[in-house]
Amino acid sequence: MKITKIETLICHARMRNWVFVKVVTDQDGLFGWGEATLEWHTRSVVGAIEDLETLLIGEDPTRVEHLWQMMWRQHFWHGSGVSRSTAIAAIDLALWDIIGKTHGVPCHKLWGGPVRDYIRLYCHLGGGNLESFYETPVDNAKQFADFAQQSVAEGFTAFKSMAVPPTMPLEGLKPVKAAETCVAAMREAVGDDIDIMVDCHARPSPAMGMRFAKALDPFGLYFFEEPCWPENIDSLASINAAVATPIATGERLTNLAAFRDLFAARGCEVCQMDLTHCGGFTEARRIAALADAHRISLAPHNPQGPVSTAASIEFGFSQPSYIICESVHNDVPWRADVVNEGFTLNSVDRTVTPNTNPGLGVEINEDEVKKHPFEQEIPQRVFYRDGAVGDW
Ligand SMILES: [Mg+2]
Repeated sequence: MKITKIETLICHARMRNWVFVKVVTDQDGLFGWGEATLEWHTRSVVGAIEDLETLLIGEDPTRVEHLWQMMWRQHFWHGSGVSRSTAIAAIDLALWDIIGKTHGVPCHKLWGGPVRDYIRLYCHLGGGNLESFYETPVDNAKQFADFAQQSVAEGFTAFKSMAVPPTMPLEGLKPVKAAETCVAAMREAVGDDIDIMVDCHARPSPAMGMRFAKALDPFGLYFFEEPCWPENIDSLASINAAVATPIATGERLTNLAAFRDLFAARGCEVCQMDLTHCGGFTEARRIAALADAHRISLAPHNPQGPVSTAASIEFGFSQPSYIICESVHNDVPWRADVVNEGFTLNSVDRTVTPNTNPGLGVEINEDEVKKHPFEQEIPQRVFYRDGAVGDW
């Protein structure tokens, strides 16, 4: 069997362009799907896939590890930059999809799964609607509480919020109190049975991240995400050691060595590797093994498109330390038109049972994808009140 072609299909989904990657073989009708969505870097990642294609044409797609080593190591530059690592990830997911289809089993069965009966989903406040999640002001605690109740009414037992505002490297009590009021309102609205997460988007400096983490510690968050830049491993470790709330991070790390350094410093309790950025299943399985040795949980980052979600679910049914799957269901109204998913969603309690289709179990409707051609992503830029550049 040989790889004959690698295609990229762009599907504009408001905040993101979903980048679907199709690895085609010389066997009649046999191909694999991957996803390389990289918001605001769509052209870069499409180019990176074209560069990798030159290494792979004519190769046997079932030699996944061998091809992964070629993609990571060949032509001098390693694959650690995010455009390249995302391109590698998409192709790797597609190769595993092909192997599953070749053997007639879902991917998780290739790795000895399923290891559990179902996977719990969590949502973003507002279901992944861009404005609800990112643009609800943190001084509007009531709106946060209303969205929280809406998530629970939709069946979710866990949700994530952006209840920490952008702050300058050092600010006083006001933003900390605002975050505290927001989280208190959400807790009051949904009670103790529901798991609440707060994502800081790595907005705070280490000093501000520590303040927010300590202020929110009494509310028993399920996890507290990216309280400072991912580059500040020592500071992540300090915050993780200072509070009872589990710290989560890892969505911007692209390779095993980066996770080695994070885990060695105990920079988190929850590893949020992104299967579409960290080199695909092949590298993610190594990262997961390392996380297991540290007894760190896995909750992969997954706000992208449906192939990413299928990958996260397949991974979750093969990994004992996987705790929950991030999901968005309300980003675009036509999401379900683009894909047939292999797993079964129970919309009453927002859990999924295992995919029984081969590979990733996804079918992409290419005619539907063509209805949503590339558009520049909606800008999401932050400037502090004095005009200086901040983190989104
Ligand atoms: Mg995040």
